[in-house]
Amino acid sequence: MIIGVPKEIKNNENRVGVTPAGVIELIRNGHSVYVQATAGEGSGFSDEKYTKAGATILPTIEEVYATAEMIIKVKEPIASEYNLIKEDQLLFTYFHFASYEPLTHAMIERKAVCLAYETVERPDRSLPLLVPMSEVAGRMSIQEGAKYLEKPLKGRGILLGGVPGVRPAKVLVLGGGVVGTNAAKMAAGLGADVTILDTNLARLRYLDDIMPANVNTMMSNEYTIRELIPSHDLIIGAVLIPGAKAPNLITRDMLKDMKPGTVLVDVAVDQGGCIETCKPTTHEDPTFIIDDVVHYCVANMPGAVPYTSTQALTNATLPYAIQLANKGWKQACADSNELKLGLNVVNGKVVYKGVAEAFNLEY
Ligand code: NAD
Repeated sequence: MIIGVPKEIKNNENRVGVTPAGVIELIRNGHSVYVQATAGEGSGFSDEKYTKAGATILPTIEEVYATAEMIIKVKEPIASEYNLIKEDQLLFTYFHFASYEPLTHAMIERKAVCLAYETVERPDRSLPLLVPMSEVAGRMSIQEGAKYLEKPLKGRGILLGGVPGVRPAKVLVLGGGVVGTNAAKMAAGLGADVTILDTNLARLRYLDDIMPANVNTMMSNEYTIRELIPSHDLIIGAVLIPGAKAPNLITRDMLKDMKPGTVLVDVAVDQGGCIETCKPTTHEDPTFIIDDVVHYCVANMPGAVPYTSTQALTNATLPYAIQLANKGWKQACADSNELKLGLNVVNGKVVYKGVAEAFNLEY
């Protein structure tokens, strides 16, 4: 199959759909790969690295779309790409259709085959192509939190790990899923005193088993949250209720109980946030302050570390991309229910229930 890797053109998006290592694997499986010039630059992969891996570099995005049978990307196509997409062309990328109606209509009109990373689903209902980005965001939340706890950045001026003779900072993690577990692991590694809250007792038992001694677990409820927030320095929002807006676990009135310079990192901001006062921010201007409490609410945290994020993403997507390229999408989806669940729009029809329901479309 002929595979195309265009350069991402969404604002501040430095990731790329396939790494040079991925190119080698695709070529080993008998496929050809066409990469747009400078597509990998933001992630640390030069055109030369792609050429060495066996890819052909094409100068323009138009040529990549015109040449390829399958496009592998990171973000959904934006309006200027719509007209480049051909009938029957397979697009393997994040789409998040339900949050943007014009994109859905554009893909229906182009009669493309849209296989969305975010709805590829394992039999245990886990979402293997979302996990890597949660891992990145969870780990990053502590790095960012530690930074904004510094006094010049308006934080309390406390070092996460303390030093001999001085107590470490206290970190509260709301939600012990992928983001929360990765956040807790990082904070614990730096020596902080960490508490994870979750509503799932089985998950808390598991975390209690695997986490080091400086991590405690507690059942999540309003009483416990109110009791814990006055003594904590960094609070990470990492809850998810699939298919629903995140619940507001930290409400506006709770800010007055926090110490000045407390830092809130609401990773769940992309699902509406679990801290009432959070609104989405960007990497250019990541924080704002309400009642002396620092809020960090960047909706695309992995975008700041494209070198890591690109590799984490393609480690997860490549095995699926190889199945699609080897068998063609029809046979690959017939053989794998995981991949079949990724199909959202096929040749002018919406085939994913959630997307059809979001816009009252025929399904
Ligand atoms: P996950 O499903 O692995 O974990 C969510 C956890 O929240 C589960 O363990 C669940 O039991 C728990 N939970 C649900 N209700 C709760 C409550 N009331 N109190 C405490 N815990 C509760 O999800 P995840 O992959 O960890 O993702 C968490 C959030 O981070 C999602 O909203 C996701 O979209 C978001 N995310 C954001 C970015 C970003 O850049 N901002 C990047 C990746 C993921």
